[in-house]
Amino acid sequence: MTRILFLAFFFGSFINVFAGEKKPPQSIDTLQSVHFDAIDQKAKIAVGKIMQYTGLPQNFIIVNEDVRTAVAYIKNRKRYIAYNDDFIKRILDETQTDWSAVSILAHELAHHLAGHTINIREQSPGDELECDIFSGFILYRMGATMEEANVAMEKFVPDTTNKIHPPKSARLQAIKTGWLQAKALDNVDAAISSDAVNTKKEVKMTYELTLTGDDNLYFIDDNDRVIWFDNYGTPIVIGMIKEPESKSYQWTYSYQDKNYGVDFKGKIWRSSNHGAMAIIGQVFKIIVKEEEE
Ligand SMILES: [Zn+2]
Repeated sequence: MTRILFLAFFFGSFINVFAGEKKPPQSIDTLQSVHFDAIDQKAKIAVGKIMQYTGLPQNFIIVNEDVRTAVAYIKNRKRYIAYNDDFIKRILDETQTDWSAVSILAHELAHHLAGHTINIREQSPGDELECDIFSGFILYRMGATMEEANVAMEKFVPDTTNKIHPPKSARLQAIKTGWLQAKALDNVDAAISSDAVNTKKEVKMTYELTLTGDDNLYFIDDNDRVIWFDNYGTPIVIGMIKEPESKSYQWTYSYQDKNYGVDFKGKIWRSSNHGAMAIIGQVFKIIVKEEEE
């Protein structure tokens, strides 16, 4: 294609020189007829703008690929953001705002910025929430309202169909948290009145929960909620501990539409469709030293 364009340009110029005409060379028409993908431009503008708000250089490679929605990965030591242009087109059309695409790209950028793409590992709920917080944070900084920051998540993330991602309610809360954190930096009064600050108080943790292959720590509070804390200490509920489904367990850990058995040694078990059992994590009791009062 490049060669054809070059030839067209060359002959276009050649003919013009000989005709002695001053009208623009033919090659401009040829260039304009090349397929122009506005989505490609929008994606690049969005990533460029997001990075401006971080103060970091934009040196990600942005590509349109046959991925399901959008994904961050490293190849040959270069950082890529790949998006599916039909998906981006669809969210832009259905949400009628560019913020939806910006929030999805911000989430993917956060996987790079937070270092999640350095080692290939399974996605974890904590990682996902970290990226949702960044997305909410940066969208506030860019001028989006909280509703605009949430629009892609509201419209395009199904409630319970995805095994890797945390519950939609937790993800919406994470975006809101990030948005409020950014707002709190703007305005001290907003920080005092924000939910992000209010939710910090009076949460008592009784157990710690770890998942295989996931560096994050999760906690179980005295209301049986499974909680992840962001780096500012804001709790986000990702699951629940419930009555056991069988006598060999002390609890059921309910995450998304999945239930896992927690045995009496704190091991979290997953059973496959074929009945094979695997340990996917461990629960530890938190021992609090008795003091005062
Ligand atoms: Zn993600």
